[in-house]
Amino acid sequence: MKFFLVLLVVLVVAWRWRTWREAAQLKKMNSGVRKSPSTDMVACRQCGLHLPTNEAVVGKLGNYCSNDHRLKVEP
Ligand SMILES: [Zn+2]
Repeated sequence: MKFFLVLLVVLVVAWRWRTWREAAQLKKMNSGVRKSPSTDMVACRQCGLHLPTNEAVVGKLGNYCSNDHRLKVEP
């Protein structure tokens, strides 16, 4: 009977340690996500496609998904 009690305690401790470790990893991952800068999205003036600002082609009248679409609006 004493053996089962010890086994139970060991299992509970192992389970608690695992859940604590998973929670710590999740917290670490979430904080990593928060640290990354949020990318602003812009819509292409020609087709309406949304894309990150750093990938957009900037024209005189606005942002475009590609140089082709910029030339269609701004010849
Ligand atoms: Zn476009």
